[in-house]
Amino acid sequence: MFVSFLRPNNLSQKMLRVIFSIYLCVTCLITSMQFLSEYLKTQDSISSELRQLEETVRGPIATSLWQYNQTQLDVLIDGLVKMPIIEGVDVSDKHGQSMISKRAYTPDSVPLSIFETKSELNWQLHGENVFLGTLVLYSSSEVVFDRVLFGFALIGITAIVKLSILFYLFIWAFDRYLARPLKELMSQVEDVQLSQNVSKRITLSNIENNELSQLQKHMNKMLSAIEKDKKRLLDDEQAKRNWLEDAVAKRTAELQILNEKLHNLARTDSLTGALNRGSFFETAQHLLALCQRQKSSASFVLMDLDHFKKINDSYGHFIGDKVLIHFTQTIQTFLRKSDLVGRLGGEEFAIFLNGTNIDDAFLLADKIRKAIGTSILQFDGKTITYTVSLGIVSTEPQDNSIDELFKRADVKLYGAKDKGRDRVEK
Ligand code: GH3
Ligand code: MG
Ligand code: MG
Repeated sequence: MFVSFLRPNNLSQKMLRVIFSIYLCVTCLITSMQFLSEYLKTQDSISSELRQLEETVRGPIATSLWQYNQTQLDVLIDGLVKMPIIEGVDVSDKHGQSMISKRAYTPDSVPLSIFETKSELNWQLHGENVFLGTLVLYSSSEVVFDRVLFGFALIGITAIVKLSILFYLFIWAFDRYLARPLKELMSQVEDVQLSQNVSKRITLSNIENNELSQLQKHMNKMLSAIEKDKKRLLDDEQAKRNWLEDAVAKRTAELQILNEKLHNLARTDSLTGALNRGSFFETAQHLLALCQRQKSSASFVLMDLDHFKKINDSYGHFIGDKVLIHFTQTIQTFLRKSDLVGRLGGEEFAIFLNGTNIDDAFLLADKIRKAIGTSILQFDGKTITYTVSLGIVSTEPQDNSIDELFKRADVKLYGAKDKGRDRVEK
């Protein structure tokens, strides 16, 4: 506490130093005034003692002077000079000429200050006063100091004791009511700051209804407001994040659907929904490689609508398109999920049947042919019938390319056309 008092490092200690320094100065001033007053009082008392002494010795000295008794005068003056309160005696004649001048001190130890009492020496003759000379008695600050030494010591000790007690009481009160609560407040505020935990509250151990308790109340109010704001911000942030995640998920799903649509569009024929030429050949090539690896048979069916040009010419392209759609839907009803249908171009279609030998493929192709041949289509009050020719081939062990199968099936298809159409050639 004393070290921090001498070298203060915070506001409360600085205040303590300023207040105590003022208090110390005031105490010193009061004590000095007490010292001075004691000194002057003692000097007065010594002066009055000197005057009394003068009263007493004035008679015998005047007698000695009247009688010119020098010996008696010397004895009297020596006796006076030896007295503790007298520092010197001067006797001068009626003309002011010094007759006797004696000092109790040596020239080396002249006192700090000297004061005196002066009186006239007279002789009564026939009822009249005869002036004989003057008597001066001296005393000094040394005599006064000898007298006041005890009083001074008493004043000094009282001042030191009073100062010490008040200093300790002041430090105790200051520490108890200001420094300690302030320190506690600061450490709790620092805790909140360091842990970033705004749900913490400041609780001073010795709470009294003063500025500190109000400060605690205000700070806790502030912390509550900060906590509320933080919670609101976190909630807002969470809501925004949720909204963003939902939006991203929704957009991702939409993009996926769009991607699938695009993929399908790129792979399929927009009119019939069957695979387009490129996609059909690519997928069929994979399936062929798989069948060859598994040493299972597969068949390729190539189909071409008969005299389709005539349908277009007779009923128009719109109805021709409807026939193409009808054809695709009809053949789908005979196929498994694993079978592949593609529109190779115009009114030419192909089917790749994996795990199917030539005989089964023929049975299926003939079923398709019959179904198409017996179909009767009604569009705009017009009745339309049509037929299809099919060429089928099965895989050979040396077949590596789907093009090989396509070429051989094409030959078979031409055969079917040559032989009068509406037939299956294997
Ligand atoms: P064949 O029995 O010898 O096959 O005779 P065909 O008339 O079917 O043969 P051709 O190849 O000469 O005619 C095919 C016709 O198919 C010609 C073309 O106008 C028509 N065509 C091709 N693509 C489409 C299409 O997308 N829609 C319609 N409506 N017609 C198409
Ligand atoms: Mg054709
Ligand atoms: Mg044709």
